[in-house]
Amino acid sequence: MKNYSIGTNCVQAGYTPKNGEPRQIPIIQSTTFKYDTSEAMGKLFDLEESGYFYTRLQNPTNDHVAAKIAALEGGSAAMLTSSGQAANFFALFNICECGSHIVASSSIYGGTFNLIAVTMAKMGIEVTFVSPTASEDELNAAFKDNTRAMFGETIANPALTVLDIEKFAKVAHAHGVPLIVDNTFPTPVNCRPIEWGADIVTHSTTKYMDGHGAAVGGAIVDSGKFDWMAYADKFPGLTTPDESYHGIVYAEKFGREGAFITKATSQLMRDFGCIQSPQNAFILNLGLESLHVRMPKHVENGQAVAEFLEKHPKVTKVSYPGLKSDPYYEIARKYMPNGGCGVVSFEVEGGRAGAEKFMKELKLAAIETHVADARTCCLNPATSTHRQMTDEQLEAAGIPAGLIRISCGLEDKNDLIADLENALSKI
Ligand SMILES: *Cc1c(COP(=O)(O)O)cnc(C)c1O
Repeated sequence: MKNYSIGTNCVQAGYTPKNGEPRQIPIIQSTTFKYDTSEAMGKLFDLEESGYFYTRLQNPTNDHVAAKIAALEGGSAAMLTSSGQAANFFALFNICECGSHIVASSSIYGGTFNLIAVTMAKMGIEVTFVSPTASEDELNAAFKDNTRAMFGETIANPALTVLDIEKFAKVAHAHGVPLIVDNTFPTPVNCRPIEWGADIVTHSTTKYMDGHGAAVGGAIVDSGKFDWMAYADKFPGLTTPDESYHGIVYAEKFGREGAFITKATSQLMRDFGCIQSPQNAFILNLGLESLHVRMPKHVENGQAVAEFLEKHPKVTKVSYPGLKSDPYYEIARKYMPNGGCGVVSFEVEGGRAGAEKFMKELKLAAIETHVADARTCCLNPATSTHRQMTDEQLEAAGIPAGLIRISCGLEDKNDLIADLENALSKI
C-alpha cells in the first residue's frame, strides 16, 4: 500500500481480505496454532519459515496492525508491544547490552527517563543525557566508543520541546549508531521521522493512535535503512550467529529490512513476553482507522486553546510549539507543517492554590493522568503526581506549582474555551 496517501493507509493498510474473508481484521483469540507434522512446526522454530506457533511471540491480529503502522511511518517492518514502555525498552535493548552506552535527549517522558536512567543502568547500560537544543559539537562530545544508540522524542511529553531529527540523525550516523525516535505525540499523520533520517521509530499507541483511552499498547517500526553489517563489531547481536536459533545471523538472513524486528520478536518477545493482546490490537486498529481525521482536530483545538490562554491575564506562561512566541515554533514548522498535537502546557496565577481552584471549576476537562484522548483532560503536577514536593522543589525541577498540562480532545473548541474561561475567572 506504499503508493497510497497516509489517510488511505490509516483506513486500509496492513490487511487485505481475500474472497469471502472478514472485512474487519479478525481477532485471533488463540494462544497457539495447530500443525499437521512436527517437521512443519520445526521449520518455524528454526526461523526457516515464517508463521505462528505461540501468541507470546507473534499473533496474526497484531501483525496486521503492525503492518499498518509500518506503512504509516514508511518503515520496512514493525511489531506491537504491550505498552509504550515495552516498545522503548525493546528498541534499545535489541542493540544494547551490559557495557553499552546510550545518548538520549534529556527532554523525554518521565517513564522513559526512569527506564533508561534507573532500570537500564541496573543492567549495566550507561546513558548520557543531552539537551534537545544541543549543538552538533555538544552532541558529538556525548558519544563514546561503546555508544550503541541515540534516543529522543519528536515532541517531548510533557515539556513540548521539539527534536531536531535531522541534526540528531546526522550525529548518530557519524558515530555509526542508529537514531531511535519516539513519535507518540505527532503520530505519523503529522511527522514521519524516518523521512528525516531516524532509523527506528517507537510509539505509545495508548495515546493518539488508539485515541479513545481504551487500550494500553506500543509499537516499534524499523526503517530498514541502517546498515548493521557496516558496523558489525558494534552490533554483534545482529551480525554474529544466534546459537538459540542454530547459528543464524539476523542481518544476513533477514537483511536490513527485516533483521531488527525479527531479532526483537524471536529473542526479546520470546524471553520477556511483553506482547499486546490481540483484543487490544483490534481496538488499536479501530483508532488508527480515523487517526488522519482526528489529528487535525486535536491540533485545531490545541492551537485555539493555546492562543486563548496566551491572551488571558490570569495565565502567566503558555508552551505550545504552534505559538509564534514558542521557542520551538520554527523547528516545529519544519518537521510538522500541519501542526503537532493537542497538548498544551501553561501556568496560572496564584501557584498551587490558583491551579487547584482552576482545576476544581473545570466541567468538560477531566482531571486525569493521561493525554491524547478524545476527551479533554488536565493535570496539575503540584497537586497530583508531584504533590509530595514543596513549591521550591517543584520550581527547581522545572515544574512550577501553577503549571497545568491540558490535552485537548475532540470536543468543540468554543465549548473548551468557555470551560477554561469560566474556571480561570474563579481564581
Ligand atoms: C505515555 C508515553 C510513553 C509510555 O507509554 P505507555 O503506553 O504508557 O507505556 C512513552 N513515550 C511517550 C512519549 C509517552 O507519552
